[in-house]
Amino acid sequence: MTQTRIIDGKAVAAELRGEIAREVAGLKARGLVPGLAVVLVGEDPASQVYVRNKGAQTLECGMASFEHKLPADTAEADLLALVQRLNADPAVHGILVQLPLPGHIDSMKVLSTIDPAKDVDGFHVVNAGRLAVGLDALVPCTPLGCVILLKRELGSLAGLKAVVVGRSNIVGKPAAQLLLKEDCTVTIAHSRTRDLPGECRTADILVAAVGRPEMVRGDWIKPGATVIDVGINRIAKPEGGTRLVGDVAFAEAQGIAGRITPVPGGVGPMTIACLLQNTLTAAKRQAGLG
Ligand code: NDP
Repeated sequence: MTQTRIIDGKAVAAELRGEIAREVAGLKARGLVPGLAVVLVGEDPASQVYVRNKGAQTLECGMASFEHKLPADTAEADLLALVQRLNADPAVHGILVQLPLPGHIDSMKVLSTIDPAKDVDGFHVVNAGRLAVGLDALVPCTPLGCVILLKRELGSLAGLKAVVVGRSNIVGKPAAQLLLKEDCTVTIAHSRTRDLPGECRTADILVAAVGRPEMVRGDWIKPGATVIDVGINRIAKPEGGTRLVGDVAFAEAQGIAGRITPVPGGVGPMTIACLLQNTLTAAKRQAGLG
């Protein structure tokens, strides 16, 4: 029976934030203070927590944080005007509009209004396109975090078979692009995939980004595989209250997977650390520092 190693995303994220803070201190000494603007429309409780955490960690790394909280009934035109002001503001190097946006606002329109150079979420079609053709791009934070964890665990990923379950623009597709860039042989699976368990069983690297609690069972995992569980699902506990679980049946994976990220404490903390990393990258590029 395999001894499954738990990948400590929290510790890796803390290390990454430490490296970012050191680099920010160096830039500040040269007069450049990287700045991240976060825009929240409405009062979705989960989004409020994310925005608060992003703001706090931005400040902890020594960067400037600009929070814009707008009411849920904000007109699309007003949000677009704010994004344009942030595009033109030299103190702002990164812009993040927290999703989901209220239904009356066209998210794609808002995301495409962000200057691609400040698009630290990496959702603009210019950045998605640059990633797809292998040019330097601002890359979506969650898949970037997944690949950083994988490279730290496995070293070179070249030649490994990766299966990504989920094809969203924010996780599944960019995760597949990044794994391809690392010379993996990549399969993208989704809700119409035939024999999903069989596809998963071929994976040396299995990335689950589905949003269905514990869907990936232990016997879908190839013995020794590295499992990256992106899912964050809140489920009811039998004794009352709720708890977070991933898209992978974590207990069943023990003794089968070689390595696995826990939920919480795996991919989640890496997402914000990578947002800060992208803000730093964006600030340096805007200042002509490579
Ligand atoms: P989406 O809902 O946008 O996409 C889910 C994907 O899963 C779709 O491609 C869908 O396929 C596929 N899918 C759904 N049901 C099945 C099924 N039964 N079998 C196979 N594939 C299926 O979700 P996201 O990509 O935005 O997020 C995925 C998960 O990751 C969520 O739990 C989310 O909370 C979490 N997440 C975590 C983050 C973090 O920081 N750790 C950040 C972002 C997301 P199809 O396209 O065919 O419909």
